[in-house]
Amino acid sequence: MKAAVMYGINQPLVLEDIEIDEPQHGEVLIKTAASGVCHSDLHFMEGSYRYPVPTVLGHESAGVVEKVGPGVTRVKPGDRVVVAFVTSCGACDYCVVGKPYLCGNSAALSRMGRIKLKGQPIPQFSNMSAFAEYQLVHQNACVIVPDDVPMEVAALVGCSVMTGVGAVTNTMKVPVGSTVAVVGAGGVGLNIIQGAKLAGASRIIAVDLLENKLAAAREFGATDVVDASKGDAIQQVQGITGGGVDYAFEAIGLAKTAEQCWAMTKRGGKAVVVGMIPIGASVSLPGPDFIFAEKSIHGSFYGSTRQTYDMPWLMELYRQKRLKIDELISRRYTLDQINEAYAALKNGEVNRSVITF
Ligand SMILES: [Zn+2]
Ligand SMILES: [Zn+2]
Repeated sequence: MKAAVMYGINQPLVLEDIEIDEPQHGEVLIKTAASGVCHSDLHFMEGSYRYPVPTVLGHESAGVVEKVGPGVTRVKPGDRVVVAFVTSCGACDYCVVGKPYLCGNSAALSRMGRIKLKGQPIPQFSNMSAFAEYQLVHQNACVIVPDDVPMEVAALVGCSVMTGVGAVTNTMKVPVGSTVAVVGAGGVGLNIIQGAKLAGASRIIAVDLLENKLAAAREFGATDVVDASKGDAIQQVQGITGGGVDYAFEAIGLAKTAEQCWAMTKRGGKAVVVGMIPIGASVSLPGPDFIFAEKSIHGSFYGSTRQTYDMPWLMELYRQKRLKIDELISRRYTLDQINEAYAALKNGEVNRSVITF
């Protein structure tokens, strides 16, 4: 099968023929239908996060079940599924308290050396390696897609929609009437914005440097926009709200913007880091704010997903046109155009691109 192989940092991905194993106990072979072009893969390509190479990236996908191994009960051949990028055991402390995204056995469930490049085993990325025609995944990562939901929409539910909407509804459980700022109006930021709208936030302030991103933010539900290239973003947010917001979400992945989010919150406010702050970077916060302003900072991983519970309601809201997902998709590419797709993402030209197979 064809796959886009990453050989090293800052090197273009290379289309290669690779081999994939048959599904074993509990495993499912998926024929990939759509794979999202997510910024998180770019962090690995650019080296701000590390992963052993060569590997095949891609972690936002949907496909059709081709074959199942023994003991698979969740899906059958022909089923259309979203593939979640964390695999959970269902039995550890994290799983039983409703935090499968933190599963303590996730590493034990991962399949190493089951895809081969020129005869040599290479590691799968995110337990899936979705920039490939087929993926070998654990059955617990599969979520059934309703017949009338397009595969490219389902793929985006697998990362950006879940991560953004879930940060608001699951991780922070933002109460109706809250004021919210979202720093970074890319694929995840736009989903935080529409999550805040679903939650009934009274003000949703999008902060970005690019006019096209701010225009998209308005379409997705931002009540106000702040162009951070024109003056101090913190002051602008404080000005709009008369002192700061209840919740400020960081959706870029920079320590500096996480610190700005902290400063944008009012007394009692919460800063929420959703972006991937690079390895080695530290966030620095003024100490007295913790006590005298009772501010706090939270992380949010994968929208605190309980994939088999959350992804179906996200797709149902899409069916009812209460979540915009078609509008997230700016461009479609084929696998051999993947470097072009990442160049467009880097240049800020797109909300989200999808590789279709
Ligand atoms: Zn992603
Ligand atoms: Zn577990």
